[in-house]
Parts: sequence; C-alpha cells; structure tokens
Amino acid sequence: MREEEHALEQSRDVIVVGAGIIGLACAHRLAADGRDVLCLERGEPGGASSRAAAGMLAPVTEAEFGEEALYELNIAAAERWPEFAQEIGAAAAGYRREGALMVAGDRDDAEALQRVRGLRERLGIASAWLTGKECRELEPGLSPRVPGGLLAPEDGQVDPRAVCAALVRALGDRVRGGAEVRHLDRRSVTLAGGEIIRAERIVVAAGAWSGDLAPVSVRPVKGQILRLRGPTVCQRIVRTPRCYVVPREDGRVVIGATVEDKGFDTRVTAEGVFRLLEAAREVLPDVDELELEEASAALRPGTPDNAPVVGEVEGLLVATGHYRNGILHAPIAADAVAALVAQRDWVGTG
Ligand SMILES: Cc1cc2nc3c(=O)[nH]c(=O)nc-3n(C[C@H](O)[C@H](O)[C@H](O)COP(=O)(O)OP(=O)(O)OC[C@H]3O[C@@H](n4cnc5c(N)ncnc54)[C@H](O)[C@@H]3O)c2cc1C
Repeated sequence: MREEEHALEQSRDVIVVGAGIIGLACAHRLAADGRDVLCLERGEPGGASSRAAAGMLAPVTEAEFGEEALYELNIAAAERWPEFAQEIGAAAAGYRREGALMVAGDRDDAEALQRVRGLRERLGIASAWLTGKECRELEPGLSPRVPGGLLAPEDGQVDPRAVCAALVRALGDRVRGGAEVRHLDRRSVTLAGGEIIRAERIVVAAGAWSGDLAPVSVRPVKGQILRLRGPTVCQRIVRTPRCYVVPREDGRVVIGATVEDKGFDTRVTAEGVFRLLEAAREVLPDVDELELEEASAALRPGTPDNAPVVGEVEGLLVATGHYRNGILHAPIAADAVAALVAQRDWVGTG
C-alpha cells in the first residue's frame, strides 16, 4: 500500500503523542467526548515517569516555596480527582484521601515545618502544630525522636500504575505501544517505520521529551524511588523534608523521591537508595524490616517555572511540564485539552 493511501485510511480527529498518565487521560477524555482519538507511545503505555510516580495527590505539601501561583491549580486538580476516579473505576485507581502527616526528624526540620505552617496559614489552610506525642498517637510507628509535625488532611493518593492500566483498558485499540513519533506537524505524525497518520489536531504529551516534538521548554528532572512490602509501617502518608512514605492498601510501601538534575540519566544509584532509606528509617524505624522489591528512576517533565504548559503552541496542542504533580494534574489537564479541542475558551496556566 502506498503511503498516501495508508494516510487517508488512518485519518483521525485527534492524535495524542505519548501515553504517560497525561496523554492517556487526554485520550480518554477526548474519547468520552466522542472524538476519534489515537494515542501513540514509543514504549509501553504508562511506562515512563507515570510508572515511577508515588501517586500522591498533594496540592500543597508537594509544592515548593515560591510556587504559590500553582496552589490554586493544584487544589482545583485535587478537587477533580474523586469524579475522575469514579470515571475510570475508583477501586482500580486506588484513590484514597487519608491525609498526610508531615513530621520533623530533628529540631532543624521542626523549624522548617513551622515555616510550612505559616505558608499554609497564608493560603487559608491552617494546620495546628502537633507535639511528638500527638504525632505518635496518629502514627504509632514513628520514632520517639520525632519532635512534632503537621497534619495535611487534604492530601490523598492513587496508584498511578493502576490508573494508567485502567485508562489503557478503557482506550483499547485507541492506544498503540511501540509507535515512536519521529516527526510531526499540525496535521500529521510520521512514525519510525515511515507510516504517516493524519488528524485534525495533534496533542504533544511526551513528558520530558516534549521539547523534541514541540517548541516548549521542558527539561528532565530525575527522581529515584523505592517500592517495599511487609508489615504496616504507617496508616497514612508520612513526610519529612527529605522523603515521603506512602502506604498502599495491598501492603506495599513507596518511599520517594530524589530530585536530581542529571539530564536523561535514569540509573538507580547506591547513594539515591541509601539516602531514601536513611531518611525514611530516621522517622519510621520499622522500615528496616521491609522487603525491598523495586528501586527505579524516571524523569519528571520540568519547566523553567515548574508550572505545566497546557495550551496551543504554533498550531499544536501541548500538555506537558507537570513536573512533580503530573498524577495530581492529569484529570484537569485532560479537561483543558478536551476544551481546547472543542474550541471552548480556556485560560492557560503558563
Ligand atoms: C520518582 C517520581 C515520583 C513522583 N511522584 C509523584 C506524585 O506522588 N504525585 C504526582 O502528582 N506526580 C508525581 N511525579 C510526577 C509525575 O510522575 C509526572 O509529572 C507525570 O508522570 C508526567 O506524566 P507525562 O504523561 O507527562 O509523562 P510520562 O509519564 O513520562 O509519559 C510521557 C510518554 O511519552 C512517550 N514519548 C516520548 N517521546 C515520544 C515519541 N517521540 N513518540 C511516542 N511516544 C513518546 C514516552 O515514552 C512516555 O511514555 C513523580 C515523578 C517521579 C519521577
């Protein structure tokens, strides 16, 4: 079959490039709107950053000082999650909103947490300071050395692997793995094997690699993360300034994550694993008893101001740059892309 004939046969309403959680959520939302959508992924769908992620839905605790502009978006994203979880099968998504306990490992941490408390107050989500004893009443596994902490009841979690699997199932043959996009323009993509597929709109949701395909400034930010299993070490997410510990319902525990500027390097290093375990066992000593199942590393799509880029750039739609909050943002990014495709008004986030 000649290329032009192939192209005619394959014309779609929308092609989404990248099947991480952002591309999959966009494709799912577009399909729900009745669009003929195809999501193209060069590797395994849901296999890159979205596979590594802890899945915390942490609108305030995961943001850093100086990112105040993002909080409003983060909070709107967290509010959208319960409905999105229903749409894809809440049980499958592992959605829970059990809150997070931010604890201090020592006096310096306690001072840092007091600054976080001030920031939360400015944002209108005040939290009372808990003494070490009060923290241990909530989480008996905490070390007696923990001097105090703060509760963030707004935080929750999903299992990103389960979310991506549910989206892939729902999309069926509208998502294609092993399909690397080598070139694209406003109305077509060319795959590595030379196949050309046309569409009315192209959405670039290629995570840390989005800058290879669209004129956006996205850089890879490496994160190493551990998965363990064994007896329960905590009931809810426990965080310190150096790590977070996320307990899953199936007995697994996720400990993350490093933040490293190392280009496209995804090696798991001894130092990364050591630092994460050291930070976790400092506050939850029973971590020592857990079985280490997996250590992995992946690349967050970062932007110069850590804000996502969702909108139209030179005739292409882009949904990328979600940095540390891509799981949190997925439903709201998908809504925004669907609105753009439907030519409704939408105000970009940066
Ligand atoms: C260790 C770690 C922990 C994290 N924890 C959290 C958390 O707790 N909560 C949270 O909200 N966020 C978290 N994040 C951030 C979150 O994982 C990301 O923001 C999110 O996964 C980004 O999704 P994405 O779809 O944009 O990118 P990705 O998941 O990286 O997907 C992009 C996809 O595009 C594909 N692709 C690229 N180029 C092409 C091409 N040319 N052709 C075809 N396909 C292509 C890639 O193969 C990849 O599968 C974490 C990240 C890391 C690394």
